[in-house]
Amino acid sequence: MPHFSKPIASKLPQVGTTIFTVMSRLAAEHNAINLSQGFPDFDCAPQLRALLTKYINAGVNQYPPMAGIAPLREAIAEKARELYGAAYDPEHEITVVPGATYGIFTAIATLIRPADEVILFEPAYDSYAPSVEVNGGRPVYVQLKFPDYSIDWREVQNAITPRTRMIVINTPNNPTASVFSAEDLRMLDGMLERTGIVVVSDEVYEHIVFDGHRHQSIARFPGLAARSFVVSSFGKTYHVTGWKTGYVLAPRELTAEFRKVHQFNAFVTNGPVQYALAEHMKDKDAYLSLAAFYQKKRDFFLDGVKVSRFRPLPSRGTFFQNLCYDAISDEKDTDLAIRLTTERGVASIPVSVFYREPPAHKVLRFCFAKSEETLARGAEILCNI
Ligand code: PMP
Ligand code: GLN
Repeated sequence: MPHFSKPIASKLPQVGTTIFTVMSRLAAEHNAINLSQGFPDFDCAPQLRALLTKYINAGVNQYPPMAGIAPLREAIAEKARELYGAAYDPEHEITVVPGATYGIFTAIATLIRPADEVILFEPAYDSYAPSVEVNGGRPVYVQLKFPDYSIDWREVQNAITPRTRMIVINTPNNPTASVFSAEDLRMLDGMLERTGIVVVSDEVYEHIVFDGHRHQSIARFPGLAARSFVVSSFGKTYHVTGWKTGYVLAPRELTAEFRKVHQFNAFVTNGPVQYALAEHMKDKDAYLSLAAFYQKKRDFFLDGVKVSRFRPLPSRGTFFQNLCYDAISDEKDTDLAIRLTTERGVASIPVSVFYREPPAHKVLRFCFAKSEETLARGAEILCNI
């Protein structure tokens, strides 16, 4: 193909390939144990695979309804009611989307105009800022406080200006593995009460909260829920990250605007996958047991690295364990992550990539959504460093 010879004014000049792609590729090239990108190395439930095959063979292979098939939206409504006491109307307030990333992007595209400000917490999951910027918005950052990644809500208050249109929150949080408390959400609720600011709440790890704590969904707080898009993903819940299916809960007025954008982008979400998920959601234990399942893996990995020189930070939710390496090396986390992958055979994610400027603390993120065998091999390498 001949080259495109005219200058391209990039809308995202600072953006390269995502760190997840970079590290997973490097891990594959060097045959390293891949604890970098967040995805399970084990398969989903055989029943779920069988359900997908069943529905493909049943011939539900044409466009499903734009907002998602009714049985899936009803199952999502039931879950939100049972877990969070929230009444979302499946017809007007629930939209099935091709993945949480898409749901977040679409919520941002729906509302953000040039020069609108969007408050993000740093470190921030890597899709947020580009999604704001490509829509002409301006990210405004508030720092999570190391080492517990807590929020100083006075700083959030100070970041709010007449141009603030939106705030993006993420609990349980990637990459910090911290979770919001009920008090955090009460603070947010009080602060936004007299504003028109909309919340996008990324809750893809809603079922992975540890040590007996409850997930503090926006949906539990009626005042907040009335101004929020709550986004989740079946990928994390059912070990099917490759299925790229999620959903967005929002009051009717916000959902109506959201669907105007969605219908001219993806338009619909994979039909057979939706039928399979709707039926699978009847087995509530699959998501209710997920926290215990991952807590066991967290503890197995922590036990494995106990005698290493890495220092674990608290992991209160998600399937990530952060390890500080200040006792091991002064090198940049990006350099160390590459070196550990290429020379020692274990891949991780350098947490500095989720910041604009690298922070002083030295942290690598390890994904423990892996078999015990993988975790044991990874931990053994880490113990020799
Ligand atoms: N938000 C966060 C915080 C995530 O960690 C991820 C996934 N890895 C996503 C969104 C994206 O989810 P999906 O694959 O459904 O787009
Ligand atoms: N969210 C996953 C992670 O944090 C990866 C998803 C992706 O590769 N975009 O590792």
